[in-house]
Amino acid sequence: MHAPTSTNRRGALALVALATLACLGPRPAAAQTQVLNLYSARHYQTDEALYANFTKTTGIKINRLDGKEDELVERIRNEGKASPADILITVDAARLEVADSLGLFQPVQSKLLDERIPANLRTPTWVAFSTRARVIVYNKAAIKPAQVQTYADLAAPAMKAQVCMRSGSHPYNLSLGAAIIAHEGEAKTEAWARGLVANFARGPKGGDTDQIKAVAAGECGVTISNTYYLARLMRSTKPDDQAAMNAVGIVWPNQASWGTHVNVSGAGVLKHAPNKANAVKFMEYLASDEAQAYFANGNNEWPVVQGSVAANPTLAAMGSFKADTLPIGDLAKTTVAAQKVFDRAGWK
Ligand code: FE
Repeated sequence: MHAPTSTNRRGALALVALATLACLGPRPAAAQTQVLNLYSARHYQTDEALYANFTKTTGIKINRLDGKEDELVERIRNEGKASPADILITVDAARLEVADSLGLFQPVQSKLLDERIPANLRTPTWVAFSTRARVIVYNKAAIKPAQVQTYADLAAPAMKAQVCMRSGSHPYNLSLGAAIIAHEGEAKTEAWARGLVANFARGPKGGDTDQIKAVAAGECGVTISNTYYLARLMRSTKPDDQAAMNAVGIVWPNQASWGTHVNVSGAGVLKHAPNKANAVKFMEYLASDEAQAYFANGNNEWPVVQGSVAANPTLAAMGSFKADTLPIGDLAKTTVAAQKVFDRAGWK
C-alpha cells in the first residue's frame, strides 16, 4: 500500500477505507491509533475547537470530511459496506430523514444520551444537538405585527402580494409543512400552502437571508426565516446588514396554539461505522456542557441539553418563546407528505 502523498482529506479517508478492508488479522490494540471518521455538513469555526477538545479528552483522532449534505449522503450510499464513515452530522430534520430513510444510520443505545437529550429531540437512529426556530419576519413600515402572529396569517387574503418565500422543496419549508400537517392535517396544510402561494409578491428564489433582505427593502412585506440567519445579520458589522435589521421585526409564530416550529442540527452513527464505540463516545461528547456550547454557538443555535449552557447573547436578546414540542422523528417522517402537499398547491 502506498503512503498518502497529499494531505487531501478525501485521499486520507479513502486510505482509511482500504486499511479497514486490508486488516484481516487481529493487531495489538496498542499499535492502533483510535480514530473517528466524521462526515460533516457543518462548516463553522467553533467546530474546530469542538473537535480538538474531543481528541484532547479521549485521545481519539478525528478524520473529518466536509461536504454538502446531498453529496455526503450520496457518498455514504456509494461506499456501502466499505464506507469509512462513522458519523454523519447535518442540519434539518428533513435532511436527517433522507439519510435515515435510505437506511444509512444504525440504532444507538446510550443511557447518557437518553438522560441528557429531551425525548422529543431524539429518535432511535439520530439525535438533535442544537435547535433553531422558523419565525415570521415583517417590514415594520408596511405590516403591523398583530397582522402576522401565525403561519396561517401569511396565507390570509390581507397578505396579498406581501409574501416572499424560498422554494417549497427546500428542507426548511418541508419541515415546517410537516409540523403544520402533524397539528392540522393535510387538507388544512394544502389550503394554507395555496393561500401562501396566492399571496406571493414574487416567485420563490434565494435563501432565507435573501428573503429577509427583500422584506427589509420593501420588495415584500413578510417572510419566514430560520433564527440563525437573523442572528448573523444582528451580529454583522456591515452597514447594509444593520440597516436591514432595523427595517424588520420578528414574530414568534403560533404562541397561542402549538408553538413556533423548531428544527435541529443532528447526527447519527452510520450503519457500517468501522469505529462504532468511538462514534457513540463522540455522540455522548456532543451532549456534554462544553460541547453543547461550541455546537450551538457555531451557528447561533440553542443548545438542546436543558440547563447546560446559556444561549449566546444574540439569541438571548431575541427573547423567550413557546416552541413546538412535536417529536422530531415524527416531524421528519412527515416531510415526504409535505412535499406532496406543496406540489399539489403549486409551491415550486
Ligand atoms: Fe441554513
